Amino acid sequence: EKARLAQLKGVPAATRDGHAVKLFGNVGSLQETHWVKDNGGFGVGLLRTELIYMDSDHFPTEEEQYNYYKDIVEVLPDEVIIRTLDIGGDKMLPYYTFPKEMNPFLGCRAIRFCLNNEDLFLAQLKGILRASVHGKVKVMFPMVSNLEELRAAKAVLAKAKEALRTEGIPFNEKIQVGIMIEIPAAAIAADLFAKEVDFFSIGTNDLCQYTSAVDRMNADIAHLYQPLHPSILRLIKMTVDAANANGIEAGVCGEMAGDPDMALLLTGIGVHELSMSASMIPKVKDRILASGMEELKALAARVMETSTAEEALKVLKG
Ligand code: PEP
Ligand code: MG
Repeated sequence: EKARLAQLKGVPAATRDGHAVKLFGNVGSLQETHWVKDNGGFGVGLLRTELIYMDSDHFPTEEEQYNYYKDIVEVLPDEVIIRTLDIGGDKMLPYYTFPKEMNPFLGCRAIRFCLNNEDLFLAQLKGILRASVHGKVKVMFPMVSNLEELRAAKAVLAKAKEALRTEGIPFNEKIQVGIMIEIPAAAIAADLFAKEVDFFSIGTNDLCQYTSAVDRMNADIAHLYQPLHPSILRLIKMTVDAANANGIEAGVCGEMAGDPDMALLLTGIGVHELSMSASMIPKVKDRILASGMEELKALAARVMETSTAEEALKVLKG
């Protein structure tokens, strides 16, 4: 079985009837990027950049970031989605004191922190832009909840580009810009966001947490954390439909994407790209190669009609 899966390494993922699905990896380091490649992933769907910040003893400079991203992009130049810093919540930095918050997961994290600390944000965006000459780099903003934030982030990106132009440093002028859809407000208004970005990536970990008001790390209430809850499935479908209606790609980079049954469901809903831990890529690829798109669409339609996560799972398991 292992040997059979290993043979799929060089095969791009597509259904039996030729519907292509990008199978990418979630990474936080160069080492993990090699694992994705070794497991037959053709790109990075989520580079969690906070890991570089957490491993450092200072805010990484533009130059340090550029070098770090460049090494990763050179391993998988076909596509690397670099997510800007998602710090705060439970992710702290040894060299920075975050203000105490009553509700850190509802507080100043991710894009909110970056927009409040523009110099840090600018340094990261310049590092990302510089890496964009080494492969197809896309930039992605986490935890976006309204359009003003997206527009403000794009304005800082424009500043970063202008600074590089002035310095005569090359970058891809047409770098694609996307957002994570991981807050219900963004999923519900996905049609509005779709007009102002090049792609979506659905973060089902936070989307489940925020939609059901369930701490994703709390074992005592883990039974309430339900990716197959009808509300989650509807939010995912709304997001994917909005992307398709506007001609942009929608991916999924939460844990859901790496579950083989759920990966088939997501493909049937119309997701273009699934990003997961490297180790899950061969299994998911195997299942997709063995499925037909019409059968996955029918499966998705049946799952979308269920009323509980338990029912959905039953349908999914056939
Ligand atoms: C998510 O929220 O689903 C996600 C992929 O991001 P993270 O797990 O880093 O919050
Ligand atoms: Mg998240």
